[in-house]
Amino acid sequence: MDGHDPDDFDFETRAIRAGIERSDQGEHSEAIYATSSFVFASAAEAAARFSGEQSGNIYSRFTNPTVRMFERRLAALEGGEACVATSSGMSAVLSVCMALLRQGDHVVAARGLFGTTTSLLTQYLTRFGIAVSFVSTTDYAAWAAAIEPGRTRLLIIETPTNPLGEVADIRQLATLAHDVGARLVVDNCFCTPALQRPLALGADLVIHSATKYLDGQGRCMGGAVVGDAETVGKEVLGFLRTAGPSLSPFNAWIFLKGLETLALRMRAHSEQALELARWLQTQPGVARVYYPGLPDHPQHALAAAQQSAFGGIVSFEVAGGRAAAWRLIDATRLISITANLGDTKTTITHPATTTHGRLPAEEREKAGIGEGLLRLSVGLESLTDLKRDLARGLA
Ligand SMILES: *Cc1c(COP(=O)(O)O)cnc(C)c1O
Repeated sequence: MDGHDPDDFDFETRAIRAGIERSDQGEHSEAIYATSSFVFASAAEAAARFSGEQSGNIYSRFTNPTVRMFERRLAALEGGEACVATSSGMSAVLSVCMALLRQGDHVVAARGLFGTTTSLLTQYLTRFGIAVSFVSTTDYAAWAAAIEPGRTRLLIIETPTNPLGEVADIRQLATLAHDVGARLVVDNCFCTPALQRPLALGADLVIHSATKYLDGQGRCMGGAVVGDAETVGKEVLGFLRTAGPSLSPFNAWIFLKGLETLALRMRAHSEQALELARWLQTQPGVARVYYPGLPDHPQHALAAAQQSAFGGIVSFEVAGGRAAAWRLIDATRLISITANLGDTKTTITHPATTTHGRLPAEEREKAGIGEGLLRLSVGLESLTDLKRDLARGLA
């Protein structure tokens, strides 16, 4: 960062200034390098770049300066040695699995994972001789029992979980993984490094859907993997540059701008969500509110120790099942009816018939996702307006 060590600066400063590579034009804002390939001064230089003798850009499927600025900035925020950016959050998950797993390996994953991550593991990885076990996010005895020493390579979690906000003890799961030479992978989508830094708690790899809070304004798709230089900078990058789910420089630029306001936004999302969760608890027709920031949340103390705030996702159960839940959604005029999250715009979704609709009803109930459950991604609009919009459907 302009000759300074990014580690010397606080988080807010790194979010704005880490990773900048200024060109000889002296631009202040990061440049968008919209180029698929890079030219060489001579045939000998081309040969040296391709052989790896000389470092430098070759082709944007491998490296691109705008993408690299985003990677370096996110690495500085998560406290990782290396970061590789991907075309979506799912391609980040895929890249980790393809880079680090082989036939005969075993993965233990939390039952509450993002639905598409679960599908990727069960429908695709299992085709290639990789076994997957699912356990409850917070049942550590079940994690210990599911791990097969010598065969289990990855433990995969999200914390807090979607949509019920269950919080996993990252330190404890990292110890379980390391005891058998496995790695702990944390999808840090809900907290972002502004609220939680899994690597400092012992996790080996962090995965992001940059589509969510890193962008923060619902504009484009992207993802990232952060970790040590060998695993991420060599193994994950090796898969990415071969298979091709690379991040577009345009999207990298948008994420760079998103990161500049990340700390501010996550603080504001968290404050708004906490107040809305408290307000929902007082509303007639609301049977239960799920938010790790509420003192009656089962992992409130752990969340308070592990995170610097509680994030922007609030779920709540309305009395009256699906009919009441859908009525509330349809009564909103301001809040967007969409399954996306991590936007300045507040969004509402009915998990049982959307994000978790593919689960058999029995499994869904077992996971605590009832017909009356609604999930809010609390945005940055006026809280007065948000309460008014929800009160209409609660009345
Ligand atoms: C959205 C999401 C993903 C997938 O990211 P995409 O960018 O949509 O591919 C993975 N994990 C979590 C927790 C998510 O919310």
